[in-house]
Amino acid sequence: STGKKKKVLFLMSDTGGGHRASSKALVNALERLYPGKIDAEIVDIWTEHAGWPYKNFVPYYAVMAKRTWMWRMMWYYGRFWPTRKLQEIATRIQCSRRFGKCIADAKPDLVVSVHPLCQDIPLRQLAKIDGGSRKTPFVTVVTDLGSAHNTWFDGRGDYTFVPSDALEKMASRCGVPDDKIIKRGLPLREGFWDLAGSEKIKEATRNKLGLTTGVPTALVVGGGDGVGGIAKVATALGDALGEAKDPSGLVVVCGKNAQVKKELEERQWPDNVKPTILGFVDNMDEWMAASDCIVTKAGPGTIAEAATRGLPCLLSSHLPGQEAGNVKFVVENGFGAFVKKPAKIGETIAKWFSDLNLRERLSSKALEAARPSATLDIARDIGGLLFEGKAPQQA
Ligand code: UDP
Repeated sequence: STGKKKKVLFLMSDTGGGHRASSKALVNALERLYPGKIDAEIVDIWTEHAGWPYKNFVPYYAVMAKRTWMWRMMWYYGRFWPTRKLQEIATRIQCSRRFGKCIADAKPDLVVSVHPLCQDIPLRQLAKIDGGSRKTPFVTVVTDLGSAHNTWFDGRGDYTFVPSDALEKMASRCGVPDDKIIKRGLPLREGFWDLAGSEKIKEATRNKLGLTTGVPTALVVGGGDGVGGIAKVATALGDALGEAKDPSGLVVVCGKNAQVKKELEERQWPDNVKPTILGFVDNMDEWMAASDCIVTKAGPGTIAEAATRGLPCLLSSHLPGQEAGNVKFVVENGFGAFVKKPAKIGETIAKWFSDLNLRERLSSKALEAARPSATLDIARDIGGLLFEGKAPQQA
């Protein structure tokens, strides 16, 4: 530890944006709860400290996320016990020493893993560093929502924080003792630490953002990269809302996808549909608070965020394996639907917009599924362990 501050080491890798986003949210919450008392460090251990080819996880992941068949192959390769064991042994041989050095150099008072591939080797290395058996507290915060890779779950850690009933069950099935599984929610950025679903907040936020007030407004998002065929989805949705004749708003967040943004900006939209085409936004909490529903790929972050704004979710696609459970999460909690075909998406949203009762029911279900206090709760649990050696209370 540096000075009197306690050192908290976050281990992750930038495969998708969620792991870093969750780390940052937790660091922010720790600083809020324990100002000046914690020195946090976030390390992409695979990129910065693994050997070839593992240090290329991040670019490989980006390629695979765009190619479903490759993704599916990798997902099942990692799930299947013999290939998983082989892989574990190979990475252990190649990365153990380097990871051990990274962890030893950081001199952590507590380690937080926010990645499915930051359990096995770090736990072994910590035990070594601590002289044979681990004394440094180690917790895992699962940043998936409805389904997750089984490498997340390792009974050797102190606590595993899960966001949902489904992952609570999975952790147990994967051998984490029940008293080490703590259900809280997904860590989210500060803008999502409260609930915002009221009509009053919605209208005030629309005013602030320069959106038309008093008309139902749909938000289309495709993760940080603007993927999931959002151009087709937005276009079909615009057409369906146009045919419905009532005035409506359509906000499309293209993220980093500049080409889609340009294409949608140049498009002629129906007269009764007011489009707002955006690039990457930093105030997603406000765009969500201003909308009446969201159309998105089944990203865990986006779904958990949308729930805190009481937004009905229409999921248009999901990555095989990892995101399939997120669809279940939405459907089983009753705040949305999974619809793939763009034309059908348009129809569904037009129906949600024409039926206020249905919309309100979906919205209240979303708020019920939301866990806005999760980030501060988990940070408080970490602080308890760090400063008092106190075990987190079961929810
Ligand atoms: N996001 C954002 N601005 C944008 C587009 C996306 O802040 O313009 C955020 C979004 O709010 C969410 C994250 O990017 O927190 C996407 O995470 P998710 O888990 O949904 O999908 P991923 O892109 O990680 O697969």
